[in-house]
Amino acid sequence: MIHLISDLHLSPEHPEVFDQFGEYLADLNAGEDLYILGDLFEYWLGDDAVDFLGHAEAQQLLRSLSNRGVKIFFLSGNRDFLVGEKFADECGIELIADEHILKVDQRQVLLMHGDSLCTDDLSHQKFRAMVRSPGWQKTFLEKTIAERDGLAKLARYHSEDGKAQKNMEIMDVNPEAVRETITQHDVEILIHGHTHRPAIHRIECREAAYRVVLGDWTPKPSWIQLTEEGLVLAFSDSVQRLYF
Ligand code: MN
Repeated sequence: MIHLISDLHLSPEHPEVFDQFGEYLADLNAGEDLYILGDLFEYWLGDDAVDFLGHAEAQQLLRSLSNRGVKIFFLSGNRDFLVGEKFADECGIELIADEHILKVDQRQVLLMHGDSLCTDDLSHQKFRAMVRSPGWQKTFLEKTIAERDGLAKLARYHSEDGKAQKNMEIMDVNPEAVRETITQHDVEILIHGHTHRPAIHRIECREAAYRVVLGDWTPKPSWIQLTEEGLVLAFSDSVQRLYF
């Protein structure tokens, strides 16, 4: 069984989400795989700031999960793109790149965070290109934690401010970007998070392609269970199924 989650936005301000995360992980079995598709954390300042951000417990939780034989894969989101190898080593998780191809039997499943598909949101795409560049990351990580925190708070303030003003339509994925990505990777299934709009969408670009979107964890966990036969998407009080 393959499990997928995203968009928990863990932060010490919301211990109830952390508790739900712990309960969710307790149900996973040795030999199973867990894919985290980004924005596990509300924000990330670098692997040296785990204690500063109050994520030592989350690190321990992931470590104990990998110790009991669950393989964990982490694809970063637009909030936690600075999660690095040090944190991965501490937790025993494997970092994977955005647009990761997961093989399930003969089927290829494309995994993304999803923000790169929101191409109508030009200011986010500009921000994304900047913060994903190695030069920007190096300069940022050389600053003190307090300096980084100040800059991140400023960026989040502007982004929250922008979100309220942005038309809701441009916060969702762009259908053409979805079709292009699915065609480019030649896959039938795309799974992503980011938009907090959980659903299973049929995509009309080839015989039978689907875009499956994970939800966030407020007020309830959202997850996908994926097998050779199909997948189950859970969010709020709903469960939706897709049979292959
Ligand atoms: Mn996101």
